[in-house]
Amino acid sequence: MLITAPEVITAAAGGVLAPGYLELADGVIRLVGGGSPPRPPDLALPVGYLLPGLIDLQVNGYFGEEFQATTPAGFNGVVGRLPSLGSTAFLPTLITAPLAELADALAFVAGLAAARPAGARVLGLHLEGPFIARSRRGAHNPDWITEPSPAAVSRLIDAAKGQLRLVTLAAEIPGAIAAIRQLTQAGIVASVGHSDATAAQLAQAADAGASMVTHLFDAQRGLHHREPGVVGQALADPRLTAGLIADLHHVSRQACQIAFTAAPGRIALVTDAAACAGMPPGRYLLGGEPIELPPGDGVPPVRADGTLAGSALRMDSAVANMVTAGATLPAAVAAASRVPADLIGRADLGRIAAGAAADLVWLGPDLRTRATWIAGELVFADTLASDIVRRQADQGVPP
Ligand code: ZN
Repeated sequence: MLITAPEVITAAAGGVLAPGYLELADGVIRLVGGGSPPRPPDLALPVGYLLPGLIDLQVNGYFGEEFQATTPAGFNGVVGRLPSLGSTAFLPTLITAPLAELADALAFVAGLAAARPAGARVLGLHLEGPFIARSRRGAHNPDWITEPSPAAVSRLIDAAKGQLRLVTLAAEIPGAIAAIRQLTQAGIVASVGHSDATAAQLAQAADAGASMVTHLFDAQRGLHHREPGVVGQALADPRLTAGLIADLHHVSRQACQIAFTAAPGRIALVTDAAACAGMPPGRYLLGGEPIELPPGDGVPPVRADGTLAGSALRMDSAVANMVTAGATLPAAVAAASRVPADLIGRADLGRIAAGAAADLVWLGPDLRTRATWIAGELVFADTLASDIVRRQADQGVPP
């Protein structure tokens, strides 16, 4: 199938093709180019942008469902609906809980992911906690925070049946550096977060193999000009990629812009979405404990004491927010596709390039998701996109 678009944003070599085309076969992109396509297209997108499917490394739940306490039907429902937000791949994320409970939850979600439900690709699991700093715990329950003994780390790795892809932990707590080595040797990305580490301690974590910082600015030691903290080291250290919750509530517009400017190509947009995302205001769960989603567009949920507790963000909105914060659209798209894909070792995803998986999103001029393809299959189309796809399939592409 050959698709044309007024602008193709590749997030890879080629940058922006305006106009551009791409050819798909057997779930893979075969050909990408700018200007006139080699033959008449099967589908001509009349407006907007065609980009790689968005990849979200931190999703606690969505559409009322909490992954920490999910069911097969609930989990599969979220997987099926995430493409409507532009997400074609994600990491279900579990947060601090008693070790035995966490091991059970990891095993359960790993089993659901292994069944490969229809919808967004499940690229593995993200475990955020329980090896974090009490002083930077955010919405995590302090009673269940613990130290990363080799046995505890092994137990959680084993429970996830080979599906653990990313672990967020504090760099400065006893046993952290050994745990980072243990995780890295097991092929798991170690990400420093919920951490009061100094810049020097974060650098030591990177020496041990840590390659990410979780939700930059939030729940970590900030930047002081004499003690640059987690934030300063994350921005300055080329070994580190930083997650960023660009809902413009967790992080200000200016701070989003500073991150993109200071660490170009090293920011990965994440939602950190909780069960309340995509739902009306009200009471939901995060990590098995209540959160309240207040009214208001994009306003994040909070615990009873007012602490931010996940978000209600969509990945396409994260991209749009970065553009309002001053990023170029290609840079914002790359931060939501190629950067997270590369970080977790999936260079086959997150870019429009020959040989890459045909995971695609069509954004309208308003940067809202209109249609989504996974492995070349149309898995979501809004009313207007459905109409265009149907009409062009029946009557051919208008000249
Ligand atoms: Zn967090």
